[in-house]
Amino acid sequence: MSESTEVDLKITGGTVVTASGPRRVGIAVDGGRVVAVAEDHLLPPSRETYDAAGKHVIPGLVDTEAHPGCYVPLKDDIATESRAAVTAGVTTWGCPYRCGFCVKGPSDERFRTRSPGNVVDEMEMLVKRHHAAEVMFYDDVLTLRRRHIVGICEEIIRRGLRVQWESPTRINRVDPELLELMHRAGCRVLRYGVESGDPGILSLMNKAIDIDQVRRVFRWTREAGIETFAYFILGYARETAETMRRTIDLAKELDPDYVMFTLATPYPRTSLYELAVEQGIVAGDYWRDFTLGKRMERIPYFVPGAEEWMKRAYREFYLRPGRIWRQIRKIRSWRDVAKNFAGMKAIALFRMKPED
Ligand code: SF4
Repeated sequence: MSESTEVDLKITGGTVVTASGPRRVGIAVDGGRVVAVAEDHLLPPSRETYDAAGKHVIPGLVDTEAHPGCYVPLKDDIATESRAAVTAGVTTWGCPYRCGFCVKGPSDERFRTRSPGNVVDEMEMLVKRHHAAEVMFYDDVLTLRRRHIVGICEEIIRRGLRVQWESPTRINRVDPELLELMHRAGCRVLRYGVESGDPGILSLMNKAIDIDQVRRVFRWTREAGIETFAYFILGYARETAETMRRTIDLAKELDPDYVMFTLATPYPRTSLYELAVEQGIVAGDYWRDFTLGKRMERIPYFVPGAEEWMKRAYREFYLRPGRIWRQIRKIRSWRDVAKNFAGMKAIALFRMKPED
């Protein structure tokens, strides 16, 4: 829970239960009156995120223009390797794609953007007033509209703003020229949803990307000087040992700077949920019951031994001699030593939390 009492505005935090589980929100109270409820960056931005005047509130920020100085950086929640003063923001909302596992398509498909000038004004404010050195964007697909991201990059360069940033985007929405421009404008890391190393599973996921394209984009991104982050899903519907093996092998081949393996979870209104119902993994309206607090148990995995596959994936990825050496070369302080040691220990003794 974060709290600030600058001017009359009080910013506090709370927890709400959503379809995907309990989430934190930021609540702004001015003179005893709630003026804004902003989802923090962990929540998908929804159309319900408005302040009292009906103005859209940026997740992670509470109406900074009306209440200058009242900024909710939620820094503690931001998962980053960066040593810089990091904060969060968004430049676009919504995603028109329909990846089979993702809640965005069914819940927020209309793509909206802020103007490049408005985004860079905010970045400048964050740098000058709050000494932010890095902004973590929580867009769904930052580069979906080329002229939007080109506009932001050109404006950052024109103003000579010294700030780094990172964001998720899509494999099929970048090209070498754009990546080079983004790097010049301070882009430090790009996060790509690769999801699977198996063409059949990628097609079932409706990812609309292919593996050669993934290889190419990782090469371009590195050549542009941007670090890579890859997301993978294991245990999708119809997965076999062979398909999961392909995913782990692709992760090792791509060798991104950062990696995340997750186990498939059939969220509501996704085609993965339909597959779960079809396969008899889920009975009744699981998410309705979950939201009402009638069911708290996890939906069973699609494949036996899914958790073992996830442990295997992390171990094989991180416990390679080349990877260990790369981590060692990144060490700059005793804090880094402790962090790396803790990470290696966690991977070696990998244990899933009960809710995972
Ligand atoms: S995974 Fe990304 S690209 Fe696919 S629907 Fe979700 S937000 Fe869009």
